[in-house]
Amino acid sequence: MDLQELRSQPHLSCSSISLYLDCSLAYKFRYVDRLKSESVSDALVFGSAIHAVLERFYNSLMIGEVIPVDALVDLWELTWKEHAEGRDIIDWKRGNDFDKGLETGAGLLRAFSQKFEVVDTAIICVEEAFSLTIDGLDIPVIGVFDLVLQDLASGLVTIVDHKTRAKAMPERDANESLQASIYALAAKTNGFRFDDLLLRFDCLIKTKEPKFEQVYTTRSELEIFQVARLIKQVWAGIQAEVWLPNLGSWKCSGCGYKQACQDWMQEGYHG
Ligand code: SF4
Repeated sequence: MDLQELRSQPHLSCSSISLYLDCSLAYKFRYVDRLKSESVSDALVFGSAIHAVLERFYNSLMIGEVIPVDALVDLWELTWKEHAEGRDIIDWKRGNDFDKGLETGAGLLRAFSQKFEVVDTAIICVEEAFSLTIDGLDIPVIGVFDLVLQDLASGLVTIVDHKTRAKAMPERDANESLQASIYALAAKTNGFRFDDLLLRFDCLIKTKEPKFEQVYTTRSELEIFQVARLIKQVWAGIQAEVWLPNLGSWKCSGCGYKQACQDWMQEGYHG
């Protein structure tokens, strides 16, 4: 099944699980009430546009064609326009705008082009949808692997996730990433040999001098068990309609449901 088909059935996903854990009230607005978001963060739009360019890059590489850096930057300009030009819904962080994004993306892709390497490695898939089932959970968890690589000599499989970030990713973030744990669980339940599995974040870092860095992590059997348990608890919370606003959290400043949240907090107040 492709992603569209998977999405058309009831499911959880990395982003819905993360949203529930960050703020379950925002989860309710988005996935239960299906409210239209009042705004979309510029970082999210930027990340999606970079993903689209890297998808094209690796799809070309899979058939033996390396997109040269200038063509990659041209592709970025087109993609960024498609994603961001004239979209009033984008919530631009201070100092950011369409032109700044254009420049930043070009710089990041130049840094990526200079440093990326795929040597003695097969590209197994690009933007591959997955669905996983967990014992005791009556709903699948779906997602997409950005890129899966296999070392030709050792057979080692690496699941890669592309990230755009303001700062370098500390190893600890990679080791604690819920997304990486879900990917490892998905890989395991989809038949990858677990002992031969690496997870990697390919980070495009928006520092003054743009950087491309790769951060590796792994997951143990115990960590896989724990993430499955966590997902089951999330689903139990959703079914029990446990909606807790995480007021004052980092999530609030970029939240697209501020008005809905304010209204919900005032429900039943007659003062
Ligand atoms: S404003 Fe904050 S508390 Fe309210 S829904 Fe958004 S993230 Fe949750």
